[in-house]
Amino acid sequence: MNSSAAISDPQLLARLRDYSPLMWINDEKGCALPDNAPSAEDVAQAQKRFERSAQLLALIYPQLASTQGHIESDLIEIPHLQQLMEEEYASSAEENEKWFLKADHALPIAGSIKARGGFHEILALAERIAIENNIVKPDEDLIKLASTEAKALFSEYKVMVGSTGNLGLSIGIMAAALGFQATVHMSVEAKQWKKDRLRSRGVNVIEHSGDYAAAVAAGRTEALATPKCHFVDDEQSVLLFLGYAASAQYVAEQLKKANRIVDETHPLFVYVPCGVGGAPGGITYGLKLIFGDNVHCFFAEPVASPCMLVQLASKGNTPLSVYDIGLSNQTEADGLAVALASHLVSPLMRSQLSGVYTVSNDQLYKNLYSIKETEHILLEPSAAASLHGPVELKTSHEGHQYLHDHRIDLRNATHIIWSTGGSLVPEEELKRFQEKGKSIFERSSDIN
Ligand SMILES: *Cc1c(COP(=O)(O)O)cnc(C)c1O
Repeated sequence: MNSSAAISDPQLLARLRDYSPLMWINDEKGCALPDNAPSAEDVAQAQKRFERSAQLLALIYPQLASTQGHIESDLIEIPHLQQLMEEEYASSAEENEKWFLKADHALPIAGSIKARGGFHEILALAERIAIENNIVKPDEDLIKLASTEAKALFSEYKVMVGSTGNLGLSIGIMAAALGFQATVHMSVEAKQWKKDRLRSRGVNVIEHSGDYAAAVAAGRTEALATPKCHFVDDEQSVLLFLGYAASAQYVAEQLKKANRIVDETHPLFVYVPCGVGGAPGGITYGLKLIFGDNVHCFFAEPVASPCMLVQLASKGNTPLSVYDIGLSNQTEADGLAVALASHLVSPLMRSQLSGVYTVSNDQLYKNLYSIKETEHILLEPSAAASLHGPVELKTSHEGHQYLHDHRIDLRNATHIIWSTGGSLVPEEELKRFQEKGKSIFERSSDIN
């Protein structure tokens, strides 16, 4: 047990230890950002790097031709899920209140939100090496990174990463495509099909019996001892974070196209599943730069792995893990099975995040089933954590209090639920998710 950090609210601690799903509001929101916070210019640079990479990506991946090499996802209206959930949770929609899904489960190539952070970091690394070797000039288009000369150069370098699965997939796929030697350290939760897929692309996969932090630590140690090796550090990488933050600009454009205004009387709510915090933290950071106080961001975490909640509720930056408060970190949401939040991200979220709600395994499967039945969308369990965010906000005592304290009128509110992964999941696995979800759904409707 870490003696200098703790959660002082005994009621909250008891509910967390009980694995009870709950909504927690961050009462430090609005405090100053730390001095080392990324700037708006840093985020803009990441956006520009994706622009410079578009031709390159379209060349490497023919399936990106239709989007001219842009790694992006749709913003989809989900009225049927909204209706089902409003009814089920005895909530009611206000006038012109709308739910959307940000469909990162269908992001091309990597099939998860990790395409954003992971691809950005590998592209930034390749760009840096290419500049150092006079293959491209700073700010030049990156199409030359596909040249034989560049590939030969990259093949001298190694890229390593530790992951619960999806980050390994994204880093491994992009690094191998550019010619790097890639090694992925996978934690115990990582699914076999993710390892198989990487190996089929020539990526070296090392399996660990330990958790996510152990896999990251193993990768970090090996990388330090290896010359010409870059370690993608999910626990503290600014490049990953900026890749996620770069998503915000396009979301703003998509909202405009959908005729959704965001201002004081048209609030925007965003719900994102959280593992170590990089992806949801980057998205929150990017959206806050554009929408400020008019966007309210909530993270969804498993009841057994609420690492961001635990860190923020300790009110300090001394590391506090879910193990420290007696939780197991055992969850069906493999992408969210993280015991300790990123120390790059948690201090930023202290000033920006509205709150965190926790999700049981049953709820994950129920959500998976609900969105398949209503919108015909197939997700993986981690992605399903966010789906009931709006009803959680509207029906929980804490959520009500938040709306009251911020004088929020939900008429004209837009809710964006971020779906973070699923399109690469093998069919048998998806089928199993649905069967499990159906039985849980039917059992819970019997009780109601
Ligand atoms: C990684 C992941 C997340 C969370 O991202 P973090 O950066 O770990 O917080 C959410 N959903 C899925 C499917 C993921 O793979």
